[in-house]
Amino acid sequence: MRALPVAACRSLLESFFSVLFPSDCRLCSAPLANVSRVPVCPECLAAIRPTRAPQCVLCGDRLSGAQLVTGGTGVCPACQEHPPQFDRALSFAEYRDHLKGLIHLLKYERVTPLAGRLGACVAQVVAELLASAEQMPLVVPVPLHRNRRRSRGFNQAELIARATVKRSPGSLEIAPGLLVRERDTISQVGLTRAERIENMWDAFRVPDEKRVAGRDVVLIDDVMTTGTTLSECARVLKLAGAHRVWAATAARAYHGAEPDEPDEQQQEEIAAAEVVASV
Ligand SMILES: [Zn+2]
Ligand SMILES: [Zn+2]
Repeated sequence: MRALPVAACRSLLESFFSVLFPSDCRLCSAPLANVSRVPVCPECLAAIRPTRAPQCVLCGDRLSGAQLVTGGTGVCPACQEHPPQFDRALSFAEYRDHLKGLIHLLKYERVTPLAGRLGACVAQVVAELLASAEQMPLVVPVPLHRNRRRSRGFNQAELIARATVKRSPGSLEIAPGLLVRERDTISQVGLTRAERIENMWDAFRVPDEKRVAGRDVVLIDDVMTTGTTLSECARVLKLAGAHRVWAATAARAYHGAEPDEPDEQQQEEIAAAEVVASV
């Protein structure tokens, strides 16, 4: 009897498993063709693409075409009023649709193999940030308070950061204990700016300042919402002697204006402003 090729055996085995353990895509409910630790179909994964909208050069919030043209600096109104403590924050894509679904599956349904996929997204962001680096930065996941870590069983930022380092070229060093969260904080959703700052006050600490003195740091988290947490982490790291602090997240909740439809001349000015902003 002629032996079956390896690929045929594998697909037979996979079909066998998918019959034994039928499962659907956790995002769109389409039946999954292959057995995988990632319970999301290839179509849903392929729909997660990087954002290419004009963004604030400091916090990464969306800028409207008019803001780029009239402002000219590439800095959003919120950052002009209250500059963040980090040097720059960048995200892979907007916090919505499939990306939001992936993050929810990881965080709230404990589908931890998805951290690999999110780490691949953040690795692209880190590569962009490293283009202006003078030294290899330390990679620091935004810490969870020990109570929350215990109840969740893991820190999603740390899983994503580990996956990011694995998918990044060079010798990026992960330093998960560099920053600790001493105080559990309530959700920032619905708080005013002053309340958010009060909520974050004294939440983070650097136990060993020698490790961070003079170093560049890339903070990693799953989502950036208001930016208050990342800014506070950056403030504490800089106080401990960090040189520069960047923030890289898989997703970003935009607050800036919905993109408007620029006319032809505005499009040219936006393109020119983007070139200036990216230098
Ligand atoms: Zn799907
Ligand atoms: Zn901004």
